[in-house]
Amino acid sequence: MQALKGFKDILPDESPTWQWVEATARSVFHRFGFGEIKVPILEKTELFARSIGEATDIVEKEMYTFIDRNGEQITMRPEGTASVLRAFIEHNLQARQPLTKLYTIGPMFRHERPQKGRLRQFHQMSVEAIGSDHPRLDAEIIAMAWQLLAELGLSASLQINSLGCPACRPAYRQALLDFLAARQDKVCDDCKRRSATNPLRVLDCKSAHCQEQYQGAPMILDHLCAGCAEHFAAVKSSLDQLGIPYGVNGFMVRGLDYYTRTTFELLTNALGAQSAVGAGGRYDGLIEQLGGPKLPGIGFAMGMERLTLLLEQQNGGATPSQGIDCFVAALGDAALERAFSLLHALRGKGVKAAMDLEGKSLKSQMKQADRLQARYTLILGEEELAKGEAMLRDMATKAQENISMSADNAAMATTILTKIHPEQK
Ligand code: ATP
Ligand code: MG
Repeated sequence: MQALKGFKDILPDESPTWQWVEATARSVFHRFGFGEIKVPILEKTELFARSIGEATDIVEKEMYTFIDRNGEQITMRPEGTASVLRAFIEHNLQARQPLTKLYTIGPMFRHERPQKGRLRQFHQMSVEAIGSDHPRLDAEIIAMAWQLLAELGLSASLQINSLGCPACRPAYRQALLDFLAARQDKVCDDCKRRSATNPLRVLDCKSAHCQEQYQGAPMILDHLCAGCAEHFAAVKSSLDQLGIPYGVNGFMVRGLDYYTRTTFELLTNALGAQSAVGAGGRYDGLIEQLGGPKLPGIGFAMGMERLTLLLEQQNGGATPSQGIDCFVAALGDAALERAFSLLHALRGKGVKAAMDLEGKSLKSQMKQADRLQARYTLILGEEELAKGEAMLRDMATKAQENISMSADNAAMATTILTKIHPEQK
């Protein structure tokens, strides 16, 4: 049996890198005032259709949607924002503070073509800041993404754009439609259809041929209303103030319909076509659209597969945690029994300990100690035990020391702990 196409096991050797990415992210998010929220993987399909947009790739062809046993239409979440906002509304979280800052980490599901850095089950670290439309918040959120990459030791380039608001979109839409009308016979069927339903989407078409046609297309940046233009200028000056370099990309429309005003992407050139390690933007009308209060918000998501791939490429990833503190070797049934209790007591005191549960030969046990890179081995032999002693061997220096055994396993574990100082690794 094999895993499904586009679904991947994360193996023990890879886990340290994943854990490090997650721990670094949590540390940064907490410093910026974000709290964790865990939301379900399954939601009503309607939630995503209404937020991401009916005429997007995600909703049209990538969602894992099914009818459950009660006949309800269910979808495995393709992204985090919709679920987090649904929870925000359902639990009335804005009552707590003027600004609600939430993050969630977990798997997302999209039925796209699997490639390096593009899977069908992938993982995002996704953040949302709800309750202010101030441009300084946009800069703060981008700065947090930037800080996270810096602490991971990764570099990416930041591109920003503004997608305007319901006041400036209609005029832009008309300008775009006029431009597209002259090119209808030269673009793909998806683009033809979208010109009618959701013209902004065509700019996001992945076909190089279509992209050629769209060169010189009008950009929303040139059609912003006064409020949006002023907002975008303020975001840029706040980024300047924080010393965060960016490029303005007027053609970046993002693959989700809910964005308004600021959008951004963090790009690398080290992952082939999968260049975005993170992306996000503002979604000022979305909470209301989902039945919640009229509150603005902004967020982003980072792709964990892409971050870990970059780390592996760059420096082989995080090193797996080094060997164990103490291997307990035992000879004979009585010693084996004693070793088993002692092992449990050592672990209870915080010592990373192991033994051979089956009591194989001493030679085999010493081999296991080596394989586990044990710093110390505690040898319990029949004779030593009879004398009330055990032997502690420092595996690096080969120095051996007899230590006296007390009957109490917890007391014994404490004695061993003071000898091996596991905190001084
Ligand atoms: P792309 O342009 O690469 O398809 P996207 O715009 O669809 O990305 P978002 O929906 O904004 O991506 O998700 C944010 C981040 O999640 C992306 O920048 C990327 O790092 C990651 N991501 C998105 N889709 C996948 C996927 N199928 N496999 C792995 N990571 C993904
Ligand atoms: Mg995509």
